[in-house]
Amino acid sequence: MPRRAPVVDAACAERPVLRERGQREVFCGLTGIVWLHRKIQDAFFLVVGSRTCAHLIQSAAGVMIFAEPRFGTAIIDERDLAGLADANEELDRVVDRLLARRPDIKVLFLVGSCPSEVIKLDLSRAAERLAQKYLPQVRVLNYSGSGIETTFTQGEDACLASLVPGLPAASEASLMVVGTLADVVEDQFRRLFDDMGLGPVGFLPARRSGELPAVGPKTRYLLAQPFLGDTARALEERGAKRIPAVFPLGAEGTALWLEAAAEAFGVDQRTFERAVGPGRGRAEKALARYRDRLAGKRIFFFPDSQLEPPIARFLARELGMRPVEVGTPFLHREHLAAELALLPPDVRLSEGQDVERQLDRCRTDAPDLVVCGLGLANPLEAQGVTTKWSIELVFTPIQGFEQAGDLAELFHRPLERRARLEV
Ligand code: SF4
Repeated sequence: MPRRAPVVDAACAERPVLRERGQREVFCGLTGIVWLHRKIQDAFFLVVGSRTCAHLIQSAAGVMIFAEPRFGTAIIDERDLAGLADANEELDRVVDRLLARRPDIKVLFLVGSCPSEVIKLDLSRAAERLAQKYLPQVRVLNYSGSGIETTFTQGEDACLASLVPGLPAASEASLMVVGTLADVVEDQFRRLFDDMGLGPVGFLPARRSGELPAVGPKTRYLLAQPFLGDTARALEERGAKRIPAVFPLGAEGTALWLEAAAEAFGVDQRTFERAVGPGRGRAEKALARYRDRLAGKRIFFFPDSQLEPPIARFLARELGMRPVEVGTPFLHREHLAAELALLPPDVRLSEGQDVERQLDRCRTDAPDLVVCGLGLANPLEAQGVTTKWSIELVFTPIQGFEQAGDLAELFHRPLERRARLEV
């Protein structure tokens, strides 16, 4: 039964998309290690790459002082370029040393990079070889975080997809929430599903590799992130079916996301309202504080995180902002269908990037706020444009009712800072 169904314009779901294939300004998939290593607490991410890759990860993740790091880089140097046998032997030696010293590691990800792909180092064969040696104590998996033709959130997609073949088999009906969520957000959602009597519920990725959710033909999965195309495909190969929904951002977005699960599992309206009503009310109240300050502000998105369409939908519908252009590196029409249907009809949607042309459009549009990657933010700020780093949207807990106010604050803060500078 439809609960607070929003008014949807079918033409909006079919809206035209400006497709661009030019120079891009995005980070590579290695960046995902920053949030994935915090989430999967017994995993180690071994990047097989160059000193540049090591530097990127180290500077993005910062230095951990109180704990042993759970990511590192096996450096491919010039000597390795001469012979793959050397590179494989060296990799085995690095893994042997690491696992001998770190019995806390239960899953080891070998993460490919541009250099490992250039020398055609086959990390899937390396992972198989090492798995034979270390199973059952340690699972060894591999995925690519390479920056060639990818964007930074695809690292998470590749990582989660690599976990899917090893998930236990399920015969019972179950719900799986897919996409990395901060632990606090995962706990809130778990409580809401419990209050609806909906379960069993598993989360992918799990906090520990021994707690991975089971999957089977009766599994329904709900995406918590919009950039998980390969993971979704892998789950469907195991028989799971996606529950179509918007993403859990904002009061309305979170309620619709939960409602999609409730409908799929036959939760009655009263139970749903009793479980969801209080959180939705708190979120609406938190957002009301920002609406006056953000309504009418024009916002322009450069393609970076793939979160752009859901964020634009949230800002337009719940805070009255006016998205001018919503750029996204890749547009997964099926996974984003519910989002596209809720975007205002006059939004310009673009996929891919030709950065110079997009900068020209941005200058012409003269928006109040620009959401973009770090590489564009500084030059734009220097030209007097107010910016928001899109990478913050994956580093900050933004999903769910209790985080709705924090999400609004992320967009309010740069405008406030600019206003203070101009006084
Ligand atoms: S994987 Fe490629 S893009 Fe990423 S840091 Fe390494 S060399 Fe650079």
